Amino acid sequence: MIARYLNSAVDDQTRETLCAIAGDRVQFDAPLAEHTSWKIGGPADAFVVVEREAELADVMRLCFKRKIPWFVLGSGSNVLVGDGGMRGIVLRLGGEFASIELDATPAEVVVKAGSSASMALLTARAASLGAVGIGSLAGIPGSVGGSLRMNAGTDREIGDFVREVWVQSPARPVAQAVSVQYFYRHTTLARDAVVSSVTLAFERGDPAHVREEMRRRLVRRKNTQPLQLPNAGSCFRNPEGDKAARLIEAAGAKGWREGGAEVSALHPNFINNLGGASAKDVATLLAKVRRAVYERFSVELQLEVHLVGVFTDDTTS
Ligand SMILES: Cc1cc2nc3c(=O)[nH]c(=O)nc-3n(C[C@H](O)[C@H](O)[C@H](O)COP(=O)(O)OP(=O)(O)OC[C@H]3O[C@@H](n4cnc5c(N)ncnc54)[C@H](O)[C@@H]3O)c2cc1C
Repeated sequence: MIARYLNSAVDDQTRETLCAIAGDRVQFDAPLAEHTSWKIGGPADAFVVVEREAELADVMRLCFKRKIPWFVLGSGSNVLVGDGGMRGIVLRLGGEFASIELDATPAEVVVKAGSSASMALLTARAASLGAVGIGSLAGIPGSVGGSLRMNAGTDREIGDFVREVWVQSPARPVAQAVSVQYFYRHTTLARDAVVSSVTLAFERGDPAHVREEMRRRLVRRKNTQPLQLPNAGSCFRNPEGDKAARLIEAAGAKGWREGGAEVSALHPNFINNLGGASAKDVATLLAKVRRAVYERFSVELQLEVHLVGVFTDDTTS
């Protein structure tokens, strides 16, 4: 059991309002571990699944009016949630937000996707229409909204294909289009913006060729990434002109363990949960790896994964 040493930021009145908005899609003191790819994370005061723009707008208004802390979780494939959990409201989008609409002309493939649509499904469907470049987004296990926030990708990134982004926020709860700039694993998207939908546009090519390229990339991932274990992909950003995985291996950190967490031998920029790892185990390992790389190469690795919630040494109740 995790110690609840901080009071809930969700009072009875807020609980009632949340239930009125989202009914049985609201859970209180909800463990977040099951919602993250690391399978790690303490409880959220409230975990709410919103299925329509109007519902999201209502929750945004509530947060604004009562100054309630909130956080939006996508597929949870790039976050380390602290063992002490998260105060306030954790939102997840579903229902209508999972839609994917495709439109193809001889020249281009246009994909309009809700923010909770899975990148796996989006890439597979776009590839079948011959979306050139979609292979660079294949195998990313996130949602469209989380991928947009992270500017996820490989040799090309999602930002390269964005035509339109729609967001909602506590101050402006009704969906509106915004302009976003994209950088390596981050964007200028406002901190309080929840992406509600995204339109991507791709040049159109030969579907068979595009699908084959995607298949090759997925096979390569299988051979070079520990996909059968819980992790969050690459933990650190690649420093300019180098690879974080190379530096970590050369610093001798491959295979290091802390509690239930391990630096992957297959891909040293991944940290695996071997079973029962705590956020503290992973955070400790991240700090040790970072220090080892700095001592050996004077390179300060920057985190790619987002550390969120309450990190604590106290894991007893
Ligand atoms: C096996 C594996 C392989 C991976 N490979 C890659 C890769 O090749 N390239 C790559 O870039 N990443 C990779 N990742 C990391 C991860 O999949 C991406 O960063 C992904 O895009 C995150 O999406 P998510 O929905 O899981 O976001 P989450 O992890 O849920 O959230 C990430 C951030 O986005 C924010 N967010 C989520 N949804 C929204 C929204 N609707 N509006 C606004 N903000 C939002 C969250 O608040 C959080 O700050 C990999 C991860 C794993 C586990």
